[in-house]
Order: sequence, then structure tokens, then C-alpha cells
Amino acid sequence: MTYTEILQNQRDYFKAQHTKTLSARQTALRSFKQMLIENEAKLYAAVEADFGKSEHEAFLTEWSILIKDIDEALDSLKNWTKPQKVRTNLVNWPGKSFTIAEPFGQCLVIGAWNYPIQLSFAPVIAALAAGNTVILKPSELAANSAQCMADIVATYFSPKLFTVVQGGIAETSALLETRFDKIFFTGSPAVGRIVYQAAAKHLTPVTLELGGKSPAILTPSANLSVAVKRLVWAKFLNAGQTCIAPDYVFVHDSIYEESIALFKSTIANNDYQLASKNYVQIINERHLERLERLIAKEKVAHGGKVDRNTRTIEPTLLRDIGLEDPVMQEEIFGPILPLIRYTHFEEVLSYIQDHEKPLSAYLFSNYQAEQNAWLDQLSFGGGCINDAIMHITNPNLPFGGVGQSGTGSYHGKAGFTTFSHLKSVFKKPNIFEVPLKYPPYTQTKMDWIKRLLKFS
Ligand code: NAD
Repeated sequence: MTYTEILQNQRDYFKAQHTKTLSARQTALRSFKQMLIENEAKLYAAVEADFGKSEHEAFLTEWSILIKDIDEALDSLKNWTKPQKVRTNLVNWPGKSFTIAEPFGQCLVIGAWNYPIQLSFAPVIAALAAGNTVILKPSELAANSAQCMADIVATYFSPKLFTVVQGGIAETSALLETRFDKIFFTGSPAVGRIVYQAAAKHLTPVTLELGGKSPAILTPSANLSVAVKRLVWAKFLNAGQTCIAPDYVFVHDSIYEESIALFKSTIANNDYQLASKNYVQIINERHLERLERLIAKEKVAHGGKVDRNTRTIEPTLLRDIGLEDPVMQEEIFGPILPLIRYTHFEEVLSYIQDHEKPLSAYLFSNYQAEQNAWLDQLSFGGGCINDAIMHITNPNLPFGGVGQSGTGSYHGKAGFTTFSHLKSVFKKPNIFEVPLKYPPYTQTKMDWIKRLLKFS
């Protein structure tokens, strides 16, 4: 079947009102949950085959998040789908005003490879909750996960509601030629631009979940051992292949050496080995080579070894990194952590402001004035004070970027809203007619209008 035919079938199904009722949405979400539960082991095996991700991490960062997403949507859907009354202004009195969250229609979800199941399925769950039909195009780089998702989705869903299309650049480009009602893309800013341009041809609304360099700042007032523990976990989870991983850390000069020692001992304690299942592989050779080039041998404070056989890179600390070094010119997206010395907090904020708005930012400080300055001066998608990554786990916090790190957001109610159009409706009774808006226009009418609108 061609993409156009798949899409036409979805369009017909949507037009016949099969996706919109509360019960249809609940049924879709329950099927999704059943699919995840009955295929939990298969999904873990697929991500392990792709890049050695353990069941522990797959449960924590993929499967459990999706189950929680579905449960929240099922609990809240009745509330989210209810028409929301708003105040009617004086000019329109008497009457009623309300908004209805209506589905866009046919949605295209394009996924990234680094959390292949979660990043593909989470937007789909939101789209189905909002009453849409969906075509999912997972990343071809996590091929086992993509195949597994395609297989199980075909078993549990009619392609008229939800189907998976596999492929790389050629297939995605062909899909993007087709007219969708909403496109949700997760991936790099470079491809985000391509998706945005393709969507513009059809004036299709898009959500772009992109990446970039997410900065962390480690200040003297931080609880150092706690901060380093959290930073190490956040950076080396998924071998740094996390869009919201701290890309680099500014460390205050007064705690620089002590911090490096702590980073080293914390890394050693965490036993980052593929064999112990505490670590994962780099997704492919191309990324392994790209990352290897970013390791300046003379600046390695810890790690630095690249193993081609296992496709792994040791957790690597780079010390005395300058802002002009190659590792500071691109998103690292791997297990390399540059530690940059700083003396003035304001200079750090100024550097971050002079660069693209990051997807995430992290501040480790117990000094209120620093927290305020960081919050007031920096623009970023989301972030944490005295932690890293964990903001993503709260469904009440919309997740998304700003500027080059993305546009739009999802998770929890924000996901439902992202896949819904808010239709505004004014309902007027027939009993009462204010004559002021109708011709013939007179001075008396004008005077009354001005009085009513409080212009005089
Ligand atoms: P990518 O942009 O290379 O690929 C993403 C998707 O786009 C894939 O499905 C791929 O098949 C497709 N694609 C690739 N090239 C294309 C082209 N020329 N035309 C059309 N489609 C194309 O990204 P990636 O390598 O999968 O992921 C890494 C990037 O994604 C990083 O920048 C990371 O920060 C970002 N990311 C962001 C989030 C987020 O939630 N904001 C999550 C994960 C990853």
C-alpha cells in the first residue's frame, strides 16, 4: 500500500468519527497498554539488540514511562475532552462561550533512535488520546526496536487508526511530501529544519523536539558530592546519548580539582561496563568515530578509551577545556564530559546567553541570588536546580525546547494539547438583538458603542 493510500484510509476512518468519542480514545489507550504489557520482554530484547541497553534501563527510561503516560491519559481524558467554558464579554451578552479540544486528524510522528521505544510511542499515545490517527516513522538506526514496534502495532491496531512505516531518509522524505494535519518530530536541529520546510508547503502545524548543548553549572555553594553523583548519572545514562544530558559542566575554580576527583570516584563506583549491564553501546560506527574525534587526548582526565569491538567509549572526563575547543562546537551526544573552569558566575550566564537556547540547563547552587539570576537571565526548554534530567519525569511539567532546541511541548496534558486544536465557539440565543452593530451607522449608535466598550 502506498503512503497516500494508508493516509486516505486513515482520513476516511477519522471522517467517519471512529476516533473521536471518549470511549474510542479509551479503547485505543487500553489496547496500547495491553500491547506494551504483553510484549514487554520483546521490547527489552529489541533495545538490547540495538545498543546493549539493559532491562533495568529499558524499564526505567522507556517502558514504565509509557505505561504511566497511558494511565495518566486514561485518568484525565474525561476532563481534558470536556468543553471548557470561558467568560462571555459584555458586547456578546447574552450568550455562552467555550472551547473544544478537537483532534487535528492525520498525524505523522517521526522518532529518534536514542530512546527508540519511548520517543516513538509517547507522542503516539498523546495523539491517540487527542482522537487522531497516526503514522509512526521510527528511527532506522535502532532497527530492532523499529521492527519490533512495527510488528506489535500491526497486531494490536488497525492501520486505519495507527500504523508504523519503517525507513530512513528516502522514506521519511516521501512521507513528508504527503499532506498531514500535524507533524511531530524528534531529532536533530538539522533534520528539524528539513521537516519544518516540508510542513510549510502544506501549512501543517509541527512540534519539533530537537537537541543542542545543555549546560550545567557547578558552583561552590552546591552540595558537591550529591551534585557530582547526579551529574554523573545524568551524563552517562545511555552512554550520554540523551537529548537532555548535561553536555558540559562549568565548574568553579575553587572546587575544580576536588570536583574532578569526585567525578572520577563516582564513575568508578558506578561500574560502567557493558558486561555488568550498567552501560550501553554507541549506536553505530559513524557516531563512534564522530565521538572519538572529540576526545582531545592531552585533556583526558578520566577514561577516553574507545573499543571498536564492543562499540563502546569509556565514560570520559575532559579537563581544562576551552570554549573554542572542538568539543564545545557541537552537541556531544555521547559519554564525554568537558569540565570548564570558571571564576565569575555572570560570565558563565553571558556565555550561555550568547549561544543557542538549550533544550535543558542545570544549576547546582544553594545560593538564592545565583538561582534567581540563572532563572531570570537564561532561556531554555526545561531544567533543574540541584539535579539533572529528572524534570522530564514529572508529567505535570511540559517537555520541549525553545528556539533551536525545539518548538512546542508534550507529556501529560501538554501532549494532549499539542495534538489538539482548541476550537473556540460562541453560542447566541435568538431572543435578544443589540442593534448597534447594524447599519445605518449613526452618531447615537457610535456613542453607545464607545460607552459600552469603555472608550468614553
Ligand atoms: P536525526 O535528526 O538524525 O533523525 C531523526 C529522524 O529523522 C529519524 O527518524 C530519521 O530517519 C529522520 N531523518 C534523518 N535524516 C533525515 C532527512 N534528511 N530527511 C528526513 N528525515 C530524516 O536525529 P537522531 O540522530 O535520531 O537523534 C539525535 C538528535 O535528536 C540529537 O540532536 C538529540 O538531541 C535530538 N533528540 C531530541 C529529543 C527531544 O526530546 N528533544 C529526544 C531525543 C533526541
